[in-house]
Amino acid sequence: MTQVSAVGDVVIVGGGIAGASAAYFLAQAGQRVVLLERETQPGYHSTGRSAAMFTETYGPPLIRALTAASRIFLESPPHGFAEHPLLTPRGVLMVAAAGEEPELARFIREAGGTVALEALSATQARERVPVLQPAAAVAAALEPAAMDIDVHALLWGFVRQFRRAGGELVTDAEVVSIQRDGARWRLADRSGRVFEAGVVVNAAGAWADELARLAGVAPLGLVPKRRTALTVEVDPALGVGGWPMVSTVGEGYYFKPDAGRLLVSPADETPTVPQDVQPEDLDIAIAIDRFTTATAIEVQRPASTWAGLRSFFGDGLPVSGFDPAAPGFYWLAGQGGYGIQTSPAMGRLAAALIADSGVPEDLLARGVSAGALAPGRAGLRRSG
Ligand SMILES: Cc1cc2nc3c(=O)[nH]c(=O)nc-3n(C[C@H](O)[C@H](O)[C@H](O)COP(=O)(O)OP(=O)(O)OC[C@H]3O[C@@H](n4cnc5c(N)ncnc54)[C@H](O)[C@@H]3O)c2cc1C
Repeated sequence: MTQVSAVGDVVIVGGGIAGASAAYFLAQAGQRVVLLERETQPGYHSTGRSAAMFTETYGPPLIRALTAASRIFLESPPHGFAEHPLLTPRGVLMVAAAGEEPELARFIREAGGTVALEALSATQARERVPVLQPAAAVAAALEPAAMDIDVHALLWGFVRQFRRAGGELVTDAEVVSIQRDGARWRLADRSGRVFEAGVVVNAAGAWADELARLAGVAPLGLVPKRRTALTVEVDPALGVGGWPMVSTVGEGYYFKPDAGRLLVSPADETPTVPQDVQPEDLDIAIAIDRFTTATAIEVQRPASTWAGLRSFFGDGLPVSGFDPAAPGFYWLAGQGGYGIQTSPAMGRLAAALIADSGVPEDLLARGVSAGALAPGRAGLRRSG
């Protein structure tokens, strides 16, 4: 007879921010949860490679609603969740180069309805970020309430509190088989350990479709997209620490202060396959070219470089819900470029839907519905 390593109400596959946040809220609700992560530590993939921003103007309306609904948790997490604030003020300065003013006006119209935005002249933009070249910012809009997120503290807050509530984190646990056995799911990892639960949560990030295939569940057409980032040294006399993040409405780049340096990205979105993704030389060169064109800062070589995956379904929205064709198989994937800032709301929603208690009132009030995030919704590509 097979020896079972752990039995829970719920087994979650994937120890990134999606799996950790769901684990936390499920454990708070009294569920016995086992969280399985392939790597030696949680957060090694997308979660550990983000730009760590919280901005309520980013993404489609449903994402903005989930972000806004996450703010209260991030601003005032439960006592003992983290030793330091999870959010610190940053701001986002959205800039338009010559010819891009209509796009900036559209951005202000769309986002300004729900989020406080200040329209800035070119001079005002350069007062905030003096290195901006005049041509790079002929007009701008500031989102003052955008924040830096302490991603490490958030992830580990979820993990620590989930374990404190009796949850079990198992690392070095790559799930290689998933089978339905009566009313339960039985998962095996590469070293032969077996885990059982009535519900399996697919929080495998870029690998979510692969994981579904392992369970005999039809994939939903998830596309991982590579995004490149690097840091550059800057003259300490510039005092970059107080600058907002600068992001362009036009050809992509953004940069933001990062521990005395600037983090720069060309905002690339190259479709690829799930993997431990590495940066390409060309993308790094493009990032440096766009950054040095937009600013008065010269870059000899970056101080560090990396890449991460932002995974999207066809309609650009995440999935959170039970698969209609596989009882007890819960999808929690496709968080794109917003998975950190939406994680409190997404984790809480997943826990509520798994407990069959419906969408929490505050999320409903913001227009979040189970149908909009359901794996069975129109707009998702199912293949064999
Ligand atoms: C450059 C960049 C900038 C970003 N900036 C921001 C930002 O400013 N704000 C924001 O909110 N978001 C940002 N994002 C997006 C954010 O990082 C992601 O949306 C989020 O991290 C996704 O979390 P996840 O848990 O789904 O995925 P992951 O963190 O990738 O976690 C999935 C986990 O599943 C594990 N796994 C997969 N298959 C198996 C298996 N078979 N068995 C066991 N474990 C398995 C993997 O090892 C992995 O650890 C950014 C992303 C990138 C790349």
